[in-house]
Order: sequence, then structure tokens, then C-alpha cells
Amino acid sequence: MSPILINPILTNVRSLGISLDLLGCPLRTLARWVGWLREPARQNQEPMGLTADQADRAAGVLLGTATGDALGAGYEFSLPTRKTVIDMIGGGAFRWEPGEWTDDTSMAIAIARAAADTGALHETAGLDAVAAQFVAWIDSRPKDVGGQTRAVLNQRSRTARQMRARAAKIPGRRGGNGSLMRTAPVALVYLDDADTCAVAAALVSSLTHADQRAEEACALWTLAIRHAVLHGTYDGLRAALAYVDADYWAPLLDQAETSRNPRKDFPKNGWVVHALQTAWWAITHSDTLPGALELAVRAGRDTDTTAAIAGGLLGARWGASAVPERWQNLLHGYPGMRADDLTDLAQRIVARKPARPPAAAPHDQ
Ligand SMILES: [Mg+2]
Repeated sequence: MSPILINPILTNVRSLGISLDLLGCPLRTLARWVGWLREPARQNQEPMGLTADQADRAAGVLLGTATGDALGAGYEFSLPTRKTVIDMIGGGAFRWEPGEWTDDTSMAIAIARAAADTGALHETAGLDAVAAQFVAWIDSRPKDVGGQTRAVLNQRSRTARQMRARAAKIPGRRGGNGSLMRTAPVALVYLDDADTCAVAAALVSSLTHADQRAEEACALWTLAIRHAVLHGTYDGLRAALAYVDADYWAPLLDQAETSRNPRKDFPKNGWVVHALQTAWWAITHSDTLPGALELAVRAGRDTDTTAAIAGGLLGARWGASAVPERWQNLLHGYPGMRADDLTDLAQRIVARKPARPPAAAPHDQ
């Protein structure tokens, strides 16, 4: 069975002038109706717990995001030199405390809480829960909010449909990195279902970023994280090209893997495409989680976000146990959480549903 393509689904749905929420039916129902989405055999799946290694990697998803975020926070908007020591020092433009995470992790936590509460981010109830969590976060008066996200959340939309409609009206460029930075926990909801994982990642992105490349980037990265949790490899990123415009993305991944100068080759890492490339460059140029996070920060500019993006996949690949204890002890942030709370939250999401054995996932190459 061939994998679905994300954007044909979302774009075609939009071109029909149909709002999923307006119809009051979840995406799965609509997609089944138009014949684009296969029906996964959720009812028939065998309950199965994760192995100890998989559980460690699942716990690493949010923890890795937060670690990269807090590591990069003190260097945001800067270009570190070779002499610059990269550590969890805090400071930076927003005077972060050492170990304090920023909007990237706070928004990922918002998604994670909605996931733990509803267990289905591709459906109206789950998306509405994400929207409500986003509004609760903006009401906490965070000191760092991306421009595009602020423009959407300022309206305090009460539903996902309203939030998505607001995002679609934002003028100018809408492909900032603000949805990719928070996408990691979506993977934990769909360890048993790659197809719906891709759809959910795109839908959650679209709440604030009405941009095809942002949706594709989120689908790619979330599927890669999902695969890394299950298998402990990065192979899921290339496999996920089947879900997006591969002619566009494959050369960009090639470039990231071979680049010797990320500042020259993908300098605009506030843009979702260059942010993904920076993260992938860092990951493919180091063999360790801390080493790759340091590279992401050394690339400069939007350092907390590129390192947070990298951290989600690194944590999924190497596990929570790969995050240095010294850093774990420093981590903290909205909404009054620390490292242990992040791993507990990740486990709550995974525990909501049994995971299907990896071999049974048809598109999980
Ligand atoms: Mg940030």
C-alpha cells in the first residue's frame, strides 16, 4: 500500500472549501470518505509495551527538545566563534536562567499535554485541546514568542478551526520555524501508525503556520522521530520523503549532510527549511547527542530553535539516558516543570495507547 502524501490531503481539502472542524468530522473520517487514507487496523492491534530501550528513547523526545532549547537560549541571534564555550549558561537576549527553556519547549509541552489528555491530535477534540493549551501559554505572558505565532495567538482563538483560519490570514511569509520547533511530541501519539502521524504533524503545524513547507517539514521530522524511538536509527527521515514533495526535500537533505559551512549554505534558519537543514547538518556531523547539540548552537542565529529541533530527534535516537545529568539537573521552565516532569509527560502519552510491534507498521522501513 503506497504511503499517503500530506499536502495533497490538506491542500485538496482546503481547495474544496471544506473546513474539517466546520464539518464536525475528524480528518480520518473525511479522508476515508475521499479515499485517500487507509484505515489502520487499530481495533485489531495487539497490546504491546515498549522495550526498555524504546521507552528510554520515547522519554528522550521532550527531554532532548528542552535540552537543545536551553543550551541554545543563551546564544540566540549570535554567531559563536571557535573560542566561544557552548554550555547551558542562560543569558542571551531574553536573560534566561541557566537551564531555562524557551517558547520552543513550552509550546511542545502544550502539544504534549493535549496529547496526553486526548490521545488523538488529528481529530477535532485533540486539535482544540492543542489550541487551548497554546492560548493558556500565551496568557502566561512568555517573554519570547515568535512573530508569526504571536500574531495568531493574540486572537485567543477558542477552537482549532478559528486558530487555523487566523493563521491563514497572516500576510507575507508564513514559513517560520515556529511549528517545526514544537512538533516532536506528536510522534509519541502515533508510534503505531505512521500515516496518521504524518497527517497529525501537518495539522498541528497548520494551527499557526499556513505554509506547505512548514507542514511538510513537520511531517518529515515527526516521522523521523517516530522511527528513531522505535528503531534507534535516523533512517526514518529519508523514508518519510515518501510523504512529502521529495523532489524538493531530498536535495536539501543531501546539502545538509555534505555542507561544510551551514552559515553560508542555509543561513536563514528562522525559515523552517533552513532550520531543518541546520538541525540535520548538526546531527549528521557528530556521533553524540551533546556534540550535535553544540554544533546546532555553533551554527548561530536562531540557536535555541535549531538546537531544540535537533534535540527532539537526537533524544529519540539516543534516549533520555544520553542527556548529561548536569544538564538534566539544570532544566526547568513553563509551566513549572523540570526534567523529570518531561519524561513523565512523554510516558503518559505513550501509555495512553498500546504500541503496535514495529514489524507490523507497513510504512516503517
Ligand atoms: Mg525560543
